[in-house]
Amino acid sequence: MEKKNKVSILIVDDRVPNLRLLSDLLKARDFQVRKATNGKIAIKASQKDPPDLILLDIQMPDMDGYEVCQKLKSDPQTRDIPIIFISALGEVFDKVKAFEVGGIDYITKPFQYEEVLARINNQLVIQKQKKLLQDEQEKLKIEIQKRKETEEFLYQSRAFVYSILTNSLDGIAAFEAVRNLETEKIENFRCLVVNPILAELCDRKPEDLTGKIVIKNIINKIDANLFDELIKVVETGETLQKDFNYRQGEQHKWYSYIIIRLADGCTITIRDITDRKKLELELSRLATIDGLTQIANRRYFDRQLQQEWQRLRRERQSLALILLDVDYFKRYNDGYGHQTGDDCLRAVADLTREAVNRPADLVARYGGEEFAIVLPNTDRQGAMTVARRIRQAIRDRAIPHAQSNVSEIVTVSLGIASTIPSPESCPEALISLADEALYRAKQQGRDRYCCAPSDSGEIVESLD
Ligand code: GH3
Ligand code: MG
Ligand code: MG
Repeated sequence: MEKKNKVSILIVDDRVPNLRLLSDLLKARDFQVRKATNGKIAIKASQKDPPDLILLDIQMPDMDGYEVCQKLKSDPQTRDIPIIFISALGEVFDKVKAFEVGGIDYITKPFQYEEVLARINNQLVIQKQKKLLQDEQEKLKIEIQKRKETEEFLYQSRAFVYSILTNSLDGIAAFEAVRNLETEKIENFRCLVVNPILAELCDRKPEDLTGKIVIKNIINKIDANLFDELIKVVETGETLQKDFNYRQGEQHKWYSYIIIRLADGCTITIRDITDRKKLELELSRLATIDGLTQIANRRYFDRQLQQEWQRLRRERQSLALILLDVDYFKRYNDGYGHQTGDDCLRAVADLTREAVNRPADLVARYGGEEFAIVLPNTDRQGAMTVARRIRQAIRDRAIPHAQSNVSEIVTVSLGIASTIPSPESCPEALISLADEALYRAKQQGRDRYCCAPSDSGEIVESLD
C-alpha cells in the first residue's frame, strides 16, 4: 500500500556515497527510493517496475548515462519515465546531448538540496500534467470514435429508412401541424417527409413538398375531406382508415389510407387498392346477377323490394309488383330441348327489361321461368300499362311454341299487385297478392294479365 502511494525514484550512480547522499535526502522527503550502481541494473529495474522518475549519473564505467537514457527511451515500457541527469562539477557535460537522448533536466554537483527537490518536483508536476493530458486525449479519442460509430449508425439507418420510403409500393408521408399562434388551431401542415408514390399522387415531386406548408391545397384535391380528417386525427389521436375513389387522369382509382397521429402531426399511408376494389365490385355484382339471363337474381330482388317498401312507406307512395310466368314452358322445354328453353328465357328477360323504362324499375329472375318486376312510385294503372307492354313485346318477338295450348308462339301470364306500403302490411304480402293474380290469369286461360283486388276491393282482369 505504502509503495503505491509514494512517488518512486530510481537513483543511478556508480559512486555509492553519492547514492546514499541523494537517497537520504529523498527518503527524508517521503519519496520511495531505489538505487542502481550501473546502467544495466538501472534498465532492468526500470523495466521490472517503472519508477516515477530517474536520477541518472552521466559518467559511469561500461555504460554511460547517455547510453542508459537512450536505451530507456527506445523501450516503450520505460520511454515515458522522466530522466534527470546528474553531473559532477568539472565533468565534461554535454547538455545538448543530454537533451537529445531524451533527458528532461540536469542537476550539477555539488547539490543544493532545495534545487534538487525543486527540479524533481517540477518534473513530477509536469509528468502528472502530461499524464492528465494523455488521459484527456485518450478520452477524447474514445469519444470521437463513439461519435463516429453513432454517425455511421445514423447514416445507415437513414439510408435504410430512405430505401424503404423510396421502394415502398404505398404512398407514405409525415406531416407536422402548423397552428395559428393565437387560436392554436391547425391551419395547415408542413410536409416533413414524402415518398415518390405519394408525391406522384399529388402530382408533385418529393422535393416540391418536403419542408413546405402546402398540404391543405394539395390533399384536398385528392379527397375533399382529407384535410379535416388529418386535423381530427391530430386533435383526437384516433387512427383513421378509409377507402376512397379518385379520378387520376383517365383512370378511376381506388385508394385506402391510414392516418396515425405522430407528435403534433401525423403520418399517412396510402395504398392503391384499385384491383382489389374492382374484384370486390365484380364479386358483389356477380352475387346479385342471374347467370343465365344476366338480370338481377332473386336475392337482389328480395333486397330491393324490401328497400323500396321502406322508402315508399315513408313517402306514402304506391309500389307495384308484377309476376310473370311463361305459359306451358315445360312443354316448350320438352319440345325444343333445354338449350332452346334457356335461349327463350334469355329472350323473355331481355324483352321484359326493354319494356320497363324507369331507372328505379327492376326486372329480376324470380324462379325457373318466372320473372318479377318491381315498379316504385307506380300505381295499378301504371303497372297495367307496363304489363301490357311486356306481354306485347314478347308476342311481337313471336317465338314459335308448337306445343302451347293458347297460341303457336310463346306467351306469358302476368299477375299485378300494387299498394301504398303501410306498417300493417309487408313486402311478402304484396308478393302473395301478385302470385294470386298470376294464378287467376293462368286459370282464366293464360296469355293475359290479372290484377290483385285494389285496396277498395275492385278486381280488374284483362285479356288485352
Ligand atoms: P304454365 O303455363 O302453367 O306456367 O305451365 P308451365 O309448364 O310453364 O309450368 P311449370 O311451372 O309446371 O313449368 C315450369 C318449367 O319451366 C319447368 C322447367 O321445365 C322449366 N324451367 C324452369 N327453369 C328453367 C331454366 O332455367 N331453363 C329452362 N330451359 N327451363 C326451365
Ligand atoms: Mg312457373
Ligand atoms: Mg309457366
